[in-house]
Amino acid sequence: MTAPAFGFELLHREASTRARLGKFRTPHGVIDTPTFMPVGTQGTVKGVDAGRLRETGAQMILGNTYHLSLRPGEKTVAALGGLHEFMKWDGPILTDSGGFQVFSLAERMTFDETGVCFKSHIDGSKIELSPERAVAIQEDLGSDVAMVFDHVVALPNERDVVADAMRRSVRWAERCKVAAKRADQALFAIVQGGLDAELRAESAERLVALDFVGYAIGGLSVGELPSEMYAALDFTTPLLPEDRPRYLMGVGRPIDLLEGIARGVDLFDCVMPTRNGRNALAFTDSGSVRLRNQQYALDREPLDPNCCCLACRHSRGYLRHLFQAKEMLGPMLVSIHNLTYYQRVMAEARRAILQNRFQDFLIEKRRGWGIREASATPDR
Ligand SMILES: [Zn+2]
Repeated sequence: MTAPAFGFELLHREASTRARLGKFRTPHGVIDTPTFMPVGTQGTVKGVDAGRLRETGAQMILGNTYHLSLRPGEKTVAALGGLHEFMKWDGPILTDSGGFQVFSLAERMTFDETGVCFKSHIDGSKIELSPERAVAIQEDLGSDVAMVFDHVVALPNERDVVADAMRRSVRWAERCKVAAKRADQALFAIVQGGLDAELRAESAERLVALDFVGYAIGGLSVGELPSEMYAALDFTTPLLPEDRPRYLMGVGRPIDLLEGIARGVDLFDCVMPTRNGRNALAFTDSGSVRLRNQQYALDREPLDPNCCCLACRHSRGYLRHLFQAKEMLGPMLVSIHNLTYYQRVMAEARRAILQNRFQDFLIEKRRGWGIREASATPDR
């Protein structure tokens, strides 16, 4: 008998927080959780090829349904062997459903119960996206994990608007589940409901009843304060089954990852390491380094003496020069450094969980990054 393609094994629950250590099995390999997934928006993590990406310690990456379906089109990706072969990444891939991009980026967007209609930002053509279509695109892309198509709203927003979008997302999740056909692709549901505990509870309860392989927490990091996001996690993660992976979508700064882990989240993705890397901002244990600052012009030290990435073979002065001279190596190297840094923080977090010292680890990291303790109570 063959083992099922997917499985989540909870290895350890940390003593001082709700952090958990696990292993998530997919058709393209087993990943250690908590884990951070770099974002490969257009079939590439910007400026970083698959080999270099693997060297950063990344185990699983994210691809964007919205962008890949517009260009080159999912049929083209499928004809070229699927997303793994297309971008030569042989590890696990998660694709988002396009819900977030459609509701936040698309021009002239209209929606009803069937789905969403919008104008392509590339050629102005009219595009329709529905739960069934989002699943079909992701099946063509061939990711290991597909996400349900959800209705995302900005925060703050009226309760009726948030409730309406949450309930539509549940109905759409059910349609996605019916539409999904590939045995080698898992479907994750997305809990919505903004910052409202009752709405989050209703969303979680109804989605858990539908029995998905994993559960994402969506609709956060969309304009609310970090403390409000942490409070939403405080009441949302306990609603999710212990034996399924939990994924906090689109978050965030290193501190947000650790605060999420402390609240029981297993998977994260965010464009921050690469977006900031392209803008000459590097993450280190003592806070961010803005390489464009004059103070680094004659700095002979690497970004981080403990980092063995390609960027840290060079001095800060050299990296700064690359940005000043607009050389493309600058954004590439600092993106690699930031991705390596995120993976190192996650590896340290997994060790701290195993050793039951996650709370102390979090305090130590906050101190290094110069961040005051987050209040769980929203202060506005
Ligand atoms: Zn480095």
